[in-house]
Amino acid sequence: MQERLHEAEILADRTAAESAESWRQRDLSVLWHPCTQMREHPGTLPLVPISHGRGAWLVGHDGRHYLDAVSSWWTNLFGHAEPRIAAAVAAQAGRLEQVMLAGFSHEPAVRLAERLLDIAPREPGRAPLAKVFYADNGSAGVEAALKMAFHWFHNRGEHGRTRFVALENGYHGETIGALSVGDIPLYRQVYAPLLKEALFAPSPDAWLAEPGQSPAERAEQAAAGLAALLERHPGEVCALILEPRLQCAGGMRMHDPLYLRRARELCDAHGVLLIADEIATGFGRTGTMFAFEQAGTMPDLMCVSKGLTGGFLPLAAVLATQDIYDAFLDDSRERAFLHSHSYTGNPLACAAALASLDIFASDDVIERNRVTAQSLRALSAPFADHRHVADVRQAGMVVAFELTRDGDRSTPFPAGARIGLRAYRAALQRGVVLRPLGDVLYWMPPYCIDADQLALLAETTLAAIDEAVACA
Ligand SMILES: *Cc1c(COP(=O)(O)O)cnc(C)c1O
Repeated sequence: MQERLHEAEILADRTAAESAESWRQRDLSVLWHPCTQMREHPGTLPLVPISHGRGAWLVGHDGRHYLDAVSSWWTNLFGHAEPRIAAAVAAQAGRLEQVMLAGFSHEPAVRLAERLLDIAPREPGRAPLAKVFYADNGSAGVEAALKMAFHWFHNRGEHGRTRFVALENGYHGETIGALSVGDIPLYRQVYAPLLKEALFAPSPDAWLAEPGQSPAERAEQAAAGLAALLERHPGEVCALILEPRLQCAGGMRMHDPLYLRRARELCDAHGVLLIADEIATGFGRTGTMFAFEQAGTMPDLMCVSKGLTGGFLPLAAVLATQDIYDAFLDDSRERAFLHSHSYTGNPLACAAALASLDIFASDDVIERNRVTAQSLRALSAPFADHRHVADVRQAGMVVAFELTRDGDRSTPFPAGARIGLRAYRAALQRGVVLRPLGDVLYWMPPYCIDADQLALLAETTLAAIDEAVACA
């Protein structure tokens, strides 16, 4: 009996492995994957067919479990297939799946807008964010915010304000407009001839601080650079766009919130709008609901997406002040914001977002994350002494490890060594998803990650670094 059971298990394992292999082959014959040199599949870069997810785990068709330490590209908040969000989406799907938002309205879109405005960053004495415009993914949200900023000045008769200021090493998405304000050569270079030239201000990134310079001093220095840039282009700039507190795609680089206060002051002084791209930082990632809160001030326009739906469905929102909204009111259509996406404000996505916000309230998520963030700090601290770790940094629920050859700032690994990729493969083999950004490894786990999973994460990260550098 025992033996037969064992045989059945082996057979099941074999069938699972075959099933995974079959999905892999079918995939590679028809799919073109995002952000991937397809030639690397599957030899250099594993391709893992996922059958289902539960909590912080992704489960492969081969039955293997993978800890999702990067929240599936920073989207997932409370774990995969979270039952409360799943139920909300299912209920909404049985009632109304989609209706165009021009000329029509629906309950989830209205309720969600009310709640987003309610939790948005604010500053006493400043008019709050008061209107919500929906889009259906992060880049589309950024495009809408950029067009709104330009159009706002246009409507006020300031036709010369046609330029955007963005930060060095920033990232705002991959569509042409969003790419124009991004500064990551890997994504930008090929398309440079197509892009609208933005003005790039120095990044306040604390990693770039000179020896002895504090993060706050670095922030002041970068703000001085921004001030000089704005002075060189009077009346030409419509908006500054930035990722508050944390430049994610740029390598999880962090800055002092002081920079955001300075940016706010400079935008006010130069009559420039401030766009906060909270697409990755929003919904608790950096410890507060939105990263901008940490500066005690607010933007004029704020983009959210990714975690907005708890990681269930694509949706984005641009929050704007009443003043911006009002400048579009007129008898003529040209003054109106004639921008739309077919799925603007999709009811299913809005229902997922509402269920996600309910969880923030019912589970006291931001407060509970403080405890998890302390565990992340304790588990990541020993890495600072590692021979190949030049920096360990943290912003709330995000931790990053900067890997270099000698563990200092001046000795990056040669790009050809592909240390990040090697670490990724080593971690994946051990059942942890640690997708790197170049030679930066990071933890951005779903908030439901438990103590055992955290321990596995730390242990695997160490093993992955050691294995990656051993064969370099
Ligand atoms: C991911 C991201 C975007 C783009 O969002 P998509 O939904 O991938 O288009 C924009 N800005 C930031 C800061 C992001 O991290």
